[in-house]
Order: sequence, then C-alpha cells, then structure tokens
Amino acid sequence: MQNIGHFINGQRVAGKSGRTTDVFNPATGEVQAKVALANADELNAAIENAKAAQPAWAAQNPQKRARVMMEFVRLLHRDMDKLAEALSREHGKTIPDAKGDVIRGLEVAEFCIGAPHLLKGEFSEGAGPGIDIHSVRQPLGVVAGITPFNFPAMIPMWKFCPAIACGNAFILKPSERDPSVPLMLAELLMEAGLPAGILNVVNGDKEAVDGILDHPDVMAVGFVGSTPIAEYVYSRGCANGKRVQCFGGAKNHMLIMPDADMDQAVDALIGAGYGAAGERCMAVSVAVPIGQETADRLVAKLKPRVEALKIAPYTAGDDVDFGPLVTREAYDRVRNYVDIGVKEGAELVVDGRDFKLQGYENGNFMGGCLFDHVTKEMRIYKEEIFGPVLAVARTDTYEEALDLAMTHEYGNGVALFTRDGDAARDFSSRINVGMVGINVPIPVPIAYYTFGGWKRSGFGDLNQHGPDAFRFYTRTKTITSRWPSGIKDGSEFTIPLMG
Ligand code: NAD
Repeated sequence: MQNIGHFINGQRVAGKSGRTTDVFNPATGEVQAKVALANADELNAAIENAKAAQPAWAAQNPQKRARVMMEFVRLLHRDMDKLAEALSREHGKTIPDAKGDVIRGLEVAEFCIGAPHLLKGEFSEGAGPGIDIHSVRQPLGVVAGITPFNFPAMIPMWKFCPAIACGNAFILKPSERDPSVPLMLAELLMEAGLPAGILNVVNGDKEAVDGILDHPDVMAVGFVGSTPIAEYVYSRGCANGKRVQCFGGAKNHMLIMPDADMDQAVDALIGAGYGAAGERCMAVSVAVPIGQETADRLVAKLKPRVEALKIAPYTAGDDVDFGPLVTREAYDRVRNYVDIGVKEGAELVVDGRDFKLQGYENGNFMGGCLFDHVTKEMRIYKEEIFGPVLAVARTDTYEEALDLAMTHEYGNGVALFTRDGDAARDFSSRINVGMVGINVPIPVPIAYYTFGGWKRSGFGDLNQHGPDAFRFYTRTKTITSRWPSGIKDGSEFTIPLMG
C-alpha cells in the first residue's frame, strides 16, 4: 500500500500525526493509497519553514523568479503523460481531460512569466512642490491555498504560480481524495530551481484547514470548493484579519433560443453536461430551451446522445466520454438526487442509475441521466448535483429564461445559444453571472483574464489568475518623497551669505 505524505522544505516527508485517510481507485472502488492528515504541529512547522525561506525569495529580482516559472512550464510538458496518468488514476477522468487539467494550470504558469511587468508600480513626478510619489507591489509573506478534488493540477497551479511569482511562500492544502499530482508539481518546481520552503504541500482535512485559518503568519488564503465550506473559510479567515478569496459551487444554465443551431447546442450540452462525469464547477447542469417547440426539438436530439455516451475507466482509451465519479460517497449523493428528482415529479428521460460495467462492478460508474420538465421549486434544480445529470427547465419566453438564471443563488457560468446578436448583447449586459458564453458552453476565461463567479459562487473581491491574482498576492506600498534642493552646478568659491 502506497503511503502519501507531505512536501515540506523541499522534500517529501512522511506524516507524523498517525491519522490517514484512504485514496480510492474510482474505477474499482479499491483503496490504492493512504494519505497522511497533518496535525497542527506539522502544519506549524511547514509555515515556520516557509516564513524563514520567504524573504530571500522575495529579494530575488522578479526576472529570476519568472525564469523558475519558465523552466516549470518546460518540465510540465516533459512530464505531461506521467502527470495525466497519476491524475486519472486517482480522479477517474479520461487521459485527454487530465491533460487539459494540467494544461489549464500550465497556462497560468506561462502568464506568470510576465511577473516582472505585472509587478511594476506607478510613479507621479511633481505630485506636489518638489514631491514625487511612487507605489510598489510587495509580496504578503506566507500565503495558503485550499483546493478541491475536481482539478487537482489546474487549481493548485492557479493559486501557487502567481503567489510564488510575486515573491510569497506558499502552503498548499490539496484535496485528500487525489493528493498525488500536487506533490509531483512541487517536485517539478524544485527541479525548476525553486528554493526549498517556498512551496509546501500539507495534506490534511478540517484540522489542517482550521490551522491555516487561525495561524497568525498566514497572510492570505485562497479557497476553491463547495459553497458551505467556501463560506466557512471566508468568514473564519476574514475574522482572523486575513485576505481571503473563496470560490464555491455552481448551477450553470445554458439558454437555447428558438433560432439556435440545434445540432451545435446539443453537441455543446453533451460535452458541457457530461464531460468529467459532470464534476466540473463550470459544467452545464440546466438547459433552458425557450419555447415548447424548441424544448421538444432539444430533448428529442439529446435523448439518443445521452443514451450513447461511452462510460469507462481511463484505461479503456481516449474515446471514452467520461469515467467514474470520484468516490462511492459522491456516487451515492448523485444517485440520491436522481431519486429525489423522480419523486419531485420531473420526467426522467434517460435513467443512468443502473449503469454497470463488466469487471468494474464496484466502481463508481454512473450512467448519464436526463431530466425534462424540471421546475424551479425542485431540489434537483436548486442544488448542485455535481454528477452526469442534466436538467431541462422549459420556459416560454426569453425574459422568463433570463429570470430563471438571474434568480438562481449560484452565478458561476452561464451560456446563451442563438444566432441573434441583439439577444446575445442584451443577455451579456443584463445577466448577473461572472462568466458568460455566447454559443460557448463552458466559458472558462483564458489565463490572462480572470476566473470568478458571482452570487453564492464567489466570496471576496478579486478573481483567480490573470491580473487579479497579482493584486491578491501583493500589497501596495505608496512612497511620497521630497528631497532638499541644493547646488546643482558645481562648487561655490565665494563665502556663503545667508542674507
Ligand atoms: P469540498 O468543499 O468538499 O473540499 C474543498 C477543500 O476543502 C478540500 O481541500 C477539503 O479538504 C476541504 N474541506 C472539506 N470539508 C471541510 C471542512 N468541513 N472544513 C474545512 N475544510 C474542508 O469540495 P470538493 O468536493 O473537493 O470539490 C467540489 C466542489 O468544488 C463543488 O462544489 C464545485 O462546484 C466546487 N468548485 C468550484 C470551483 C470554482 O472556481 N468556483 C472550481 C472547482 C470546484
């Protein structure tokens, strides 16, 4: 049995707390490793280490820090296959999807190569008589990130790449469900030239999270995960005077106008609704056709496509559509939601509950499910399911569809499929959701823009990656200076006279 520990002060170390949790193979249900759960002493030691290493790293010129990122990007490409395999083994997503997970993080590392430019301050000459003002962006010190299971490569990189490029030291507390890839990333950063102690990976659960939130030397905390925990981390971190940004759950709507290209919309819904078994915070989980005729056409085209989804372990090849859910607990939760939907009176057009795969009977495989006639009072509409379940919520008008998306408590992503530029423009302007797609189902912004939801999908005032990350991981110092004016043209040979 493999034992997974932590990465502290530049090397892998075994856990000392005596507490561990199981890491499962999602395809077979077997325990494939045990991961250590850190206690307060282990966490405190990592923070102390980070604190000691940080000033020298911050004193390096930003170009040198950027070069570490440059080399890190090269090493990520070199080890792409290894990383993707390790990721799929613990998470269950397909190899092409696992590579996407790495690449979306790698792109943020690439953006961070521009740190010297992004960290430039401002300067005003002659802001007063003989007075100049300039501002600089300085790192915060030791900062931390707490990340979810569903993107074990991308989200840690979204956090630690900008933090480190800014000159901070970082404590990463990744998900205990798929802990291998974050440790591999830390090793690659060391190989890329990062000094020991600047990136520490501390595996753990609530105990480690609370330790981070209460530690006086942790200056900022970035969190990604479910909304109840996001809210908890935000309020406890803020109460302790830290800078905190938390990204939570989602229920992303895709509106389909009567004039939309229906084949394109169906392709989009199949990928965005069922890709990665729906375990994406930007997955589309509600399709909102506008007009009953549009809805009938949509459901008729969706049904055979959902029935034909290829569900298998990642080892079955690259043409697999999606793999198992991450744990048995996740499987039970999703299955329970489908039962609830049936009880609530939604029409289960495709029932994936009894999907079984020969040889993988104990795996967490769930077939694609499609609900029609879902209404806004139902729990399957209101709550995040995080599985391969798509709900069709029919509406009669554009205003009704817009209202549905706008009154939902989550506001991560949203999409509109149409050929009408006027509708698209109106929609983008009025919708109260952070990331909007027009004929694009999963509008995850690229690395040099920022990522963040509105409403109960995000807490805090700055987004992830892009320029916001450089603001989040630095603080501004503003320096006002006046120099006494003196002689500027050589020596004086006559005796100075005061009058
Ligand atoms: P989760 O909330 O269970 O866990 C996230 C992190 O919090 C993990 O590191 C976990 O160890 C820790 N944690 C769990 N319970 C805790 C507790 N009681 N106290 C303190 N810490 C705790 O989330 P998950 O299941 O790993 O990830 C799925 C969720 O993340 C979904 O809700 C999804 O929408 C969301 N998500 C959001 C975004 C985004 O950017 N908005 C991106 C990816 C995932």
